[in-house]
Formats: sequence, structure tokens, C-alpha cells
Amino acid sequence: MRVAALAEKYGRVPCLAVIIVGDNPASRSYVRGKIKATEVTGMDSRLVELPEDVSEDRLLEVIAELNADAGVDGILVQLPLPKHIDEDRVIDAISIEKDVDGFHPQNVARLWLGRPCIVPCTPKGIIRMIETTGTDLAGKKAVVVGRSNIVGKPVAKLLLDRNATVTIAHSRTRDLGAVCLEADILVVAVGRPGMVDGSMVKPGAVVIDVGINRTEEGKLVGDVDFESASQAAGWITPVPGGVGPMTITMLMENTIECFLDRVCK
Ligand code: NAP
Repeated sequence: MRVAALAEKYGRVPCLAVIIVGDNPASRSYVRGKIKATEVTGMDSRLVELPEDVSEDRLLEVIAELNADAGVDGILVQLPLPKHIDEDRVIDAISIEKDVDGFHPQNVARLWLGRPCIVPCTPKGIIRMIETTGTDLAGKKAVVVGRSNIVGKPVAKLLLDRNATVTIAHSRTRDLGAVCLEADILVVAVGRPGMVDGSMVKPGAVVIDVGINRTEEGKLVGDVDFESASQAAGWITPVPGGVGPMTITMLMENTIECFLDRVCK
């Protein structure tokens, strides 16, 4: 509905460009999901598929073309990239106004400085889900397990912005179980199947499972052992069907926000 209204008001719909390099099956599946979401919401998309051995210069050229293209509002480069390509150079090349992933260093700096910015999709979706539980984050203890630039660190900053008392745990944290047990809000973004179980969850806690892991049988599982953790948690997200779809929803929202910023300039 919102997209149709935008088309009526501005004469076109938001457009997301997605660049994929190579044939990594997981990346292909993520990209399919993102393109499908543009279709479902009525937005436009451009899918740019480049071979595994594409040169870094060619990829940068493609990004420059999309930066200059007035019909493109958001640009996303699916990560990871092949080893011969410098990911930092690629992210730095995306126009900050079209950086729908919020990975550009200027967007990251703005996030940490509390200035208006494009908020990265997964952390944004995590906060949105916590907020829909009605939990007031002010003064609550939040533990984020994992300190990556794309999930752990930004989600910790967003929790801090909402006045939670935040602990970031990682592979060198001592007695992770005891640290997690203190959490009113527990966000787990590690990439290890079932590493958090019910014995590490404070009764009534909000548990957000970011992990996406594939078992040997090909099943998708999270970082949290859902069965035991859901006995203790007040709220818990499933895998699949939790943070993943929410991330894609936030990508659509960021694309719309980039579109609005551009058409309203
Ligand atoms: P990452 O860059 O690999 O970082 C993993 C983090 O986990 C690191 O900070 C690492 O600590 C920490 N860690 C590793 N082993 C640990 C242990 N035993 N105890 C405590 N912490 C430990 O991962 P990421 O990119 O943030 O992704 C994490 C997971 O979320 C993956 O499964 C990924 O597929 C998934 N993910 C899902 C979405 C989605 O949309 N649903 C989006 C992004 C990522 P050190 O820093 O000390 O090494």
C-alpha cells in the first residue's frame, strides 16, 4: 500500500539494486529473497550478476554506474566477496545516500555519533522486534553475544541509545553462561548452532536468535537451542522465520527511506 501511494505521489516506485559476485549458494538464496521482497512490495529492482573472477575495478565501475543512476535508490553488494576483492574498497565506493545496508564507514560513524543515518538492517530489525514486545529498554540489562561490525556492535549501540545497560560478550568472555543469565534482553549473533541453551536464559527474558547455521542434514538452525530456551524466555525468535525475514523487511524500509530522501531533496 505504502509503495503504491509513493508511485502515485512521486511518479515512480523505489528501486533497489543488488549486486552478486559468483555462485555461492547461500548468497544466491539471500539475493533471491531480497529481489522477491521488492516484487511483493511493488518496488523495482536491478539484479547485477557478476562472475566469480570479475576484477575489483570492474565491480567498482558497476557501483559507480549505479551511484550515478537517478532511477536507483538503494545499492546492496551481497557479501562475502571473493578473496581477490577488497570488501572495504567496495563498501566505501557505494554512495552513502544509497547505502541501504548501512555499512559505509560514514553511515557507521553517524550511527555511533547519534546523527541521522541509514541503520543497518539486521540490528534495526532486532530493535523493532524487541520494541513490539512492549519491553521498555530503559535500565534493562542487555547482553549481546558476538561483536561483528554488521550485527553485534551496531545492535549494542542501538540498545544503548534506548538506555539499556549493555554488555558485549565474545569468544574471550569468561563464564558466558553467567553473563547471559543476567540478561533481560539477550541477543545472540555468533554462528554456532545451539550455543545458548535454557540454562543460560533468565526467566522471562527477551531472546533474539540471529544465527543462521545449516546442520549436516541441511536443516537451518539458530545459535539458541529453541526447545530449552523457550521454556525460560518470555519472548524468543525462531530460526528460520525470525530475524531473517525481519532483516529483509528492514531492507525494504531502508530502500523506501533512501528513495524519500532523494525525491524530497
Ligand atoms: P561473525 O562476524 O562471524 O562474528 C561472530 C562473533 O561471535 C564474534 O564476535 C566472535 O567473537 C563471537 N564468538 C565466536 N565464538 C564464540 C563463543 N564461543 N562464545 C562467545 N562468542 C563467540 O558473525 P556475524 O556476521 O555477526 O553473524 C553471526 C551469525 O548471525 C551467523 O550465523 C550469521 O549467519 C548470522 N546472521 C544472520 C543475519 C540475519 O539476517 N538473520 C544477518 C547477519 C548475520 P570474537 O570477536 O572474539 O571472534
